[in-house]
Amino acid sequence: MSRVYYDRGLMIEVDDFKFLFDPRVNADFQSANMVLVSHGHSDHVSGLLEASENIRVGASTITHEITRLVREKRERKSLENTVYLDRKFGIKTEEYSIEAYDAGHCMGSLQFKIDTGEHLIGYTGDINFRESMTEGKAEVMDCDILMIEATFGSEEYIFPEREELNTEILDYVEKIVSDGIPVVLMGYSLGKCQELTRLISRGLDYNILVSKQIFEFNRIFERYKYMLGRYFEIDSEKGKEIIEEGKMVILLPQSNLGKNAPERLAKTFNLPRPPKVAICSGWAVNRSFFFSMQQAYNIDTVFPLSSHADFNQLLEYISNVEPTKVYTTFGNPVSLAKQIKRQLKINAQPVVNKLQQTLDVYTLDQEPQIT
Ligand SMILES: [Zn+2]
Repeated sequence: MSRVYYDRGLMIEVDDFKFLFDPRVNADFQSANMVLVSHGHSDHVSGLLEASENIRVGASTITHEITRLVREKRERKSLENTVYLDRKFGIKTEEYSIEAYDAGHCMGSLQFKIDTGEHLIGYTGDINFRESMTEGKAEVMDCDILMIEATFGSEEYIFPEREELNTEILDYVEKIVSDGIPVVLMGYSLGKCQELTRLISRGLDYNILVSKQIFEFNRIFERYKYMLGRYFEIDSEKGKEIIEEGKMVILLPQSNLGKNAPERLAKTFNLPRPPKVAICSGWAVNRSFFFSMQQAYNIDTVFPLSSHADFNQLLEYISNVEPTKVYTTFGNPVSLAKQIKRQLKINAQPVVNKLQQTLDVYTLDQEPQIT
C-alpha cells in the first residue's frame, strides 16, 4: 500500500489506484477510482448528497435509499452509477476485490475489506459490538491493515450494558408520562431513533410521535427489515389528536435543541405542558456532557446509549483481528493509536490531513486536524 491520508474523505492509494471512503462535500471524486460509503450519517455521506449523478459509488441498498431520499429533497437527480454492496456481497475486478461486512451501527451500515492481492485492507466506518434493539453486532474482518474509527477511542469512554440502559430509559419514560408530562427523547434520526421507536413501542403502552425525517427513516427500516411498532408523525392529524390527549413520548433529532428547550418545544408542537427532555448519546458517559447540556438547553437528563463501540471494544476488535498495522480515524485517533501501541504492541498511527504533513514525519504527540 502506498499511502493513506484524509482529504475530505479517507483516501487509500494502492500503487496508482485510489479508493475514497466516506467522501465529504467537495471531495476529490475525480482522482478516485472507487468510492465507498459505509453508512448514511451526514459526516460519512455528505459528499454523495452533493456529488454529480454519474459518480460511481458502492454502498448498501439502504444507504443508497437514504441518499436517494435526501437528494430528492434537495432536488438533485438520483445517482446513476451505483454499486450495491450488501453484507457478504462484493465486487471483483482485475485490480482488487471488495467484500462488505455488517458494522452494527445503524441500518445499512457496512465495513469494507479490500483484497489487493498483496494486502487485505479493512475499513470499519462506524462500528458497534453491542447488539441493539434494531442491529446485530459488527462482524470481525480478517485483515492485515485495519482502518478503524476512533470516535470513543479514549479510555474514559466505557459504556454500560445495553439491557441496563434500556430498562433505565423505559422506567424514566413510564414515571414521567404516567404523571401526564410529555417526554422528548433526542438522538440521531438515523439509527438511534429506530432503536428508540422499537424500545418504547415494545416496552410501554404510550403513543409515540416522531419528526418527519425519523418517520421516513423508520419507513425505510420497515421496508427492508421488519416493523418497528406503532408510531405517528408529529405533524399529522393523528399526531395532533395525540398531543391533545396529553400522554406521549416524542422522538426528535438533537437539531431541535435550543435555549430553554422544554418551553420552546411546547410552543413549537403545541404541547399541553413543557416536556422533560432527555438526550441519548454515547458522550453522556462523561458527566460534564450532562452539565453543559443542562446549562445550555435546560434538559432533564441524559442516557449514554451509543451506536458506537466503546474504548474496550475497539481494542478487543483489534486484538481479535491481529493486523500488522492500524490506522485510526474520526474522533480520538491520537489517543486510540497510542493505546493500541501501548496495550496491544501493534503498530498504529492516526490518519492525518493530506495538507498537513506526510505520515513518515508524523509523530503521535501531535494532534492531527481531522476535518
Ligand atoms: Zn455514524
